[in-house]
Amino acid sequence: MVYDVIIVGAGSMGMAAGYYLAKSGKSVLMLDAFDPPHEEGSHHGETRIIRFAYGEGASYVPFVKRAGELWQELESLADENLFLQTGVVNIGEPTCSFIQNVKASATLHELALEHYSAAEAMNKWPGLSLPANLVACFEPTAGVLRVEACIRAYKKLALQAGARLQIKEKVVGIQAGEIVQVQTANQVYEAKHLIVTAGAWATELLQTLDIALPVTPTRKTFAWFEADEQLYSNEVFPAYCFEFADSSYYGFPSIDGAGLKLGRHDGGEEINPNKPLHPFDDHDRADLQHFIQQFMPQHGALKYGKTCKYSMTPDEDFIIDFLPTHPNMIIAAGFSGHGFKFSSAVGEALAELTLHGKCKQDLTRFQLNRFY
Ligand SMILES: Cc1cc2nc3c(=O)[nH]c(=O)nc-3n(C[C@H](O)[C@H](O)[C@H](O)COP(=O)(O)OP(=O)(O)OC[C@H]3O[C@@H](n4cnc5c(N)ncnc54)[C@H](O)[C@@H]3O)c2cc1C
Repeated sequence: MVYDVIIVGAGSMGMAAGYYLAKSGKSVLMLDAFDPPHEEGSHHGETRIIRFAYGEGASYVPFVKRAGELWQELESLADENLFLQTGVVNIGEPTCSFIQNVKASATLHELALEHYSAAEAMNKWPGLSLPANLVACFEPTAGVLRVEACIRAYKKLALQAGARLQIKEKVVGIQAGEIVQVQTANQVYEAKHLIVTAGAWATELLQTLDIALPVTPTRKTFAWFEADEQLYSNEVFPAYCFEFADSSYYGFPSIDGAGLKLGRHDGGEEINPNKPLHPFDDHDRADLQHFIQQFMPQHGALKYGKTCKYSMTPDEDFIIDFLPTHPNMIIAAGFSGHGFKFSSAVGEALAELTLHGKCKQDLTRFQLNRFY
């Protein structure tokens, strides 16, 4: 059979795209090397921040607002609690570009944003300890998405809408043409359109089409710490982003008693996505402990740490575009450690691009030709 669309990678972006395409009546095959949601890619670890006053630039705001609407819709369609409105506090020096962008995004798009000095922030959140040179911008309507539950919800709806999902089937080759051929270990599948949403494996996969994608798979770490619930539970403490000249960290309040979660956003080593990640080690522990000791000193002991994969572009903006010279193939990759919150809107945009060749969102910032 020739499918209307094959999606390679049914993770954060691919599963959402599969749902919107199947809902529109197209025959859809989603192929995944694992069994999503799973712990091998970029979408495990319970929680993802969603913030709207966007530190990476105000041009992201319409896209993330649409994502927020679609998350609400998904919650009601799946009848599940996927979003927790904890608020998100962005902390840094007032002159840093991230903080400037948060403020500009809020002003331009009329988003609620509260401004605090370091002393005011420590008064509002006694679990914080901040030097006087930092400021805090708090977005009360932002919060946390339950990442695996979101993917599970899209999976359920995509299958209900008629999509087919083949798990544990890794794509090893793609043959371009009016009918695209997709090769796995023991099968060749055919489709009129192809979407590649392969996360940390996107670069490897596009090599089979002789396309050099500037996306670098990178090892990341995060950990949970014991928390005094009176200071750090999600009832009283927000999700947070700290932005410094030489580092950035993010994290979550203790949700359902899980502990205070902390991750480092910048840095990390380039990896081969096919090899097991070097496990969370003493160096990772020391780095996170150094940060938390300084800024949330009333935390308890480290409970456990984990590793995960980012897919970095050189400018940390996403890639969502048709492949050059292949008008029936689309790539969505390089989400650079801040893509999950958008995945509902990315799924919708990928479906629109496939069906109509264009979409309602302005994707100019994500075009591939910025690199070539
Ligand atoms: C620790 C951590 C914290 C993060 N925090 C945030 C946050 O707070 N907020 C936020 O917005 N974002 C955050 N992100 C980023 C976000 O999670 C990612 O940008 C997003 O999950 C990327 O989605 P994806 O679909 O590209 O990749 P994935 O979700 O990993 O999906 C890719 C899928 O492709 C499959 N695949 C790959 N190759 C093949 C192949 N050859 N054949 C078949 N299947 C294949 C994989 O098995 C996988 O299921 C974080 C990421 C990490 C790792």
